[in-house]
Amino acid sequence: MTRVTVTDVSVSYRDRVAVEGVSLDVEQGHWIGLVGPNGAGKSTLLRAVAGLVDYSGEVTFDGVAVPNAERSKTVALLPQNPVMPTGMTVGEYVLLGRTAHLSWLAAETDHDRAMVGESIERLDLLDFAGRPVDELSGGEAQRVALARALAQESSVLLLDEPTSALDIGHELAVLELVNEIRCERMLTVVAAMHNLTAAGRIADHVLVMANGATEAIGTPAEVLTSEVLGPVFGADISVLDAPDGTRVIVPLRSGHSI
Ligand code: ADP
Ligand code: MG
Repeated sequence: MTRVTVTDVSVSYRDRVAVEGVSLDVEQGHWIGLVGPNGAGKSTLLRAVAGLVDYSGEVTFDGVAVPNAERSKTVALLPQNPVMPTGMTVGEYVLLGRTAHLSWLAAETDHDRAMVGESIERLDLLDFAGRPVDELSGGEAQRVALARALAQESSVLLLDEPTSALDIGHELAVLELVNEIRCERMLTVVAAMHNLTAAGRIADHVLVMANGATEAIGTPAEVLTSEVLGPVFGADISVLDAPDGTRVIVPLRSGHSI
């Protein structure tokens, strides 16, 4: 049950400014998509909201400035490239999501085990539960990391390109599943999304970032346009109508040199 308010947040890594003066107000139960080219500052903004980097400005949850170290009960972050530990099974790894709820040295409760089981089942990972996490494919690892984030039972879910390693079938399935869980639990979701079409379908609002700053913010219809996206991505971008009434966003020509 949490509204997330980001006010004038900036983050620097040593002398490099990665996020500059970003503000964002996400109502409880809404899904905000963060889009923008590589290096735009999407991951850094998510880390600031999760309290994993120092920042200037303010991040509040229902108006409260929770100290960085105490955010894990409120906020779960699915990192862009989750690091899988060695010597741990999928079941054990997903249980790590419950750490914020366990008191020191206490054994897990029935509720902890139930949340882990539910996450594993809903992400269709039952066959994987006993597998070592360091032997999974990139896409499997991404689903396992999402199961861990969901098991955390936080009211704010931060997703960093949650489907970048998934095939197109799993991509849609995972996004729809997260959306279903968002509605059931009234989760507030902030998700960096590399797939602009998916962002347009699922997000209530979209923040377009470039060079650490806000380029545009609004509904998908307002900001996912060729006028906004073209200059940001340095490409000729076309917005096409799909048969189901949604929009498909495709680059037609790149103006980029790599
Ligand atoms: P995005 O997620 O949009 O691709 P990032 O937030 O990862 O962008 O990066 C924003 C900028 O900060 C980039 O210029 C990147 O090189 C830099 N950066 C990211 N992480 C670090 C780090 N740990 N140390 C130094 N610079 C970093
Ligand atoms: Mg990133």
